Amino acid sequence: MIDRIHTSAVDPEMDEVAVAGHVHEIRDLGGLVFVIVRDREGLVQVVFKQEREPELFEAVESAGSEDVVRVVGEPVASDQAPGGVEIAPTDYEVLDTADSPLPLEISKDVTVDLSTRLDNRALDLRKPETLAVFSLRSTLMTAMESWFDEEGFVDIKTPLISKGGAEGGAELFPILYYDRDAFLSQSPQLYKQILMAAGYEAVYETGTAFRAEDFATSRHVSEIAMFDVELAYIDDHHDVMDVQEESLRHALRVAADTASRELELLDVDLTVPEADFPRITFDEALSILETEFGHFPEDPTDLDTEGEKLLGEHFAEQGHPAFFVVGYPDEKFYYMQDVDGDEIASRKFDLIYEGQELSSGGQREHDVDRMVAAMEAEGVEQANFEFYIEALSYGTPPHGGYGLGIDRLVQQAAGLDNIKEAIMFPRDPTRLEP
Ligand code: ATP
Ligand code: MG
Repeated sequence: MIDRIHTSAVDPEMDEVAVAGHVHEIRDLGGLVFVIVRDREGLVQVVFKQEREPELFEAVESAGSEDVVRVVGEPVASDQAPGGVEIAPTDYEVLDTADSPLPLEISKDVTVDLSTRLDNRALDLRKPETLAVFSLRSTLMTAMESWFDEEGFVDIKTPLISKGGAEGGAELFPILYYDRDAFLSQSPQLYKQILMAAGYEAVYETGTAFRAEDFATSRHVSEIAMFDVELAYIDDHHDVMDVQEESLRHALRVAADTASRELELLDVDLTVPEADFPRITFDEALSILETEFGHFPEDPTDLDTEGEKLLGEHFAEQGHPAFFVVGYPDEKFYYMQDVDGDEIASRKFDLIYEGQELSSGGQREHDVDRMVAAMEAEGVEQANFEFYIEALSYGTPPHGGYGLGIDRLVQQAAGLDNIKEAIMFPRDPTRLEP
């Protein structure tokens, strides 16, 4: 490996350091050139003086923005420099030069619209603020996964290519699989449930799902990163919500504790939902919307975007950035519905985080006869689900789970206007590159 330390580790107490990175900024002040070197951890200023190091000075005069360089030198405390330290160079080496002009400014604080940023994503990803999104994302997901590892969940991988989908039809991307028609997966749910039937007890998957939805919103994309969880031997859907609540709190807490530099760059104050997440029924949600906001969702069996936002405001005021809405009516055949003694129509819940749906889940129907009856009532073609029905018919423990949109989590935690900013190379109905 090339000998170097990160810019963030440069300390005036050290005698000599080597750093390497991109040339973020150059300022030529006559006999003095300031070069700001950027690596993954931040920026450090290097001061070249013509009088002090004439040879290096001559070399650095031809440096260009985004060249990749390595600098060796002595760190000295400086009030003017970013981070309070600058480097007096003793060696300077160009590892690669960058073409110019750059199609997108990296260091200047100019406002560029999202579409231009995404067209030039390779350069946009270099911006410290963009990089901060993805380090925060990495921190959140590593923390999330480690919570599940600690709790004894099995890390699984389900197929992305299948014969059919969990919900069928319109939202599936068709593909040619050798000489047969197939589809990209829209959810790992059926496979997670088969693993519950198979006795795996508790599983999680960091995966990918595809939705051929024709949307134009700031919270949808065509290729989504999904965090899926399923667990067996539950009493009811509350056990599933407990897992979701504790794991999310843990991930946000770790991010708040360890990603302060990223949060500062993104200018967000991450609230960790320490209190129990409120759990309200679907009917209670409707009634809050009606009485407090005079809002009636267009489809009375679902919450709309505006409804989720308004409920988000209602609970945010009470100090709850996250809450569950439980018992959606008219649910899909795989959710447990119309349970004797339940006051809710189904055991399906959504988690709303920062005014936006973050996940959907619930207790599943493990009784195949009841499930087949629900399929018939919903007009679902049983033939498409034979492998699933059969797998569940050989003894399946009570179970439930959820699927969480990772991109939405990052969008909300990083305070981003558009979900696409939370994805390195997002896909939407019009964007297929880069
Ligand atoms: P929405 O109603 O917000 O479109 P959904 O109910 O169709 O979402 P689910 O099938 O419940 O989505 O998927 C589980 C989670 O995956 C959602 O809560 C969301 O976080 C995420 N998700 C679903 N579809 C998309 C999408 N097109 N783009 C980004 N994230 C998505
Ligand atoms: Mg949903």
